Amino acid sequence: MLDPFSERAKDLLKEFGSINEFMNAIPNIVTIEEVVGRLKVIKYKENTNKFMDVQDIRDLAQFYALLGALAFSPYGLELELVKKANLIIYSERIRRAEKIRPEEISLPIQLAVEFPVNDIKVLERVFRGLPQYTIKISEFLELLPGEKLSNYYIYKGLVYLKKEDLMKIWEMAFERNIEKAVNLLYEIRDDLPEFYTELLGEIRNFAEEEFKTRFRDVKSGILKPELFPPCVKNALRGVPQGLRNYAITVLLTSFLSYARICPNPPKRNIRIRDCIDDLKVIKEEILPMIIEAANRCSPPFFEDQPNEIKNIWYHLGFGYTANPTLEDSGNSTWYFPPNCEKIRANAPQLCTPDKHCKYIRNPLTYYLRRLYMEGKKNAPKGGNKGREE
Ligand code: SF4
Repeated sequence: MLDPFSERAKDLLKEFGSINEFMNAIPNIVTIEEVVGRLKVIKYKENTNKFMDVQDIRDLAQFYALLGALAFSPYGLELELVKKANLIIYSERIRRAEKIRPEEISLPIQLAVEFPVNDIKVLERVFRGLPQYTIKISEFLELLPGEKLSNYYIYKGLVYLKKEDLMKIWEMAFERNIEKAVNLLYEIRDDLPEFYTELLGEIRNFAEEEFKTRFRDVKSGILKPELFPPCVKNALRGVPQGLRNYAITVLLTSFLSYARICPNPPKRNIRIRDCIDDLKVIKEEILPMIIEAANRCSPPFFEDQPNEIKNIWYHLGFGYTANPTLEDSGNSTWYFPPNCEKIRANAPQLCTPDKHCKYIRNPLTYYLRRLYMEGKKNAPKGGNKGREE
């Protein structure tokens, strides 16, 4: 298998029914030890050979096991490690393949068949051999924005690629596909077996050892509003009547509380008292932001509906109350931020996506991703290096 996101891989996954069924079957196909072994190609390059001829289903199971674990911690050291190890394995397989059929790789390429006779000599001189693949200009630019087209042979709206060009584009696409798949699994993580949280623990141990202090995992900490997603920024600015309940109680309360207290919850039915020892962080940091946003609404939300403050505590999991104690946490559900699809359906005015939104499916993962990208940018140079956005 050259690429776990190829059409060929998708056909194999279809045999399991749905992605949920495949994720449930994985613990019967592979072991945690075997999956973690896959990551060790980073440290022991000679191990790469062991992964060149893995049977297709086993290969997909090892790979998706890693993505299933990342669903419980989508942005952090673990993502870095999983990307890096799998780039080594799959790019080595592609490098060794003599000819790549379009269905074997997750790129919209075709085999290059048509060359104007007059250009062949020039092509052979400039490219030292004829390019083997083509891709539409629009798709090429989408994958490699900013890349100079003048470096490539273009004919009839197609960019002609040699294998090394193809590999450069494939790497970009592969990293994006990993992120997209993890964001998809993030939505179903509550249904995944315990195997994946155990695996995450093992990946984390290896990641911390491998990356040391290069940059830290996303942990609870002071909020960085400049990295919030547009929908949350819109809610913070205050909204008109009709939108207030959704913006303040549903979106802002869940987003700010998870982002500040528990950005990577191991499961959704977690309680606030599982994450903090007193209510100071809620009363002094989260509630003031919610109240200020509510006051910016027109009309101000809590002024004409003072009981709504009890609803905020209810959504934080303390039951319908105005004066909770930490022990009340768990009296109701601590609501998780709604995903983008729900926000667009219930409050479309809040969703004004920016360029970062295309990678994610939930406002919380938007924030985690941006914290992660910031961490990478500010990490000390040297050591293992991940690709910048
Ligand atoms: S796409 Fe999602 S994160 Fe981005 S603005 Fe819309 S709802 Fe928010």
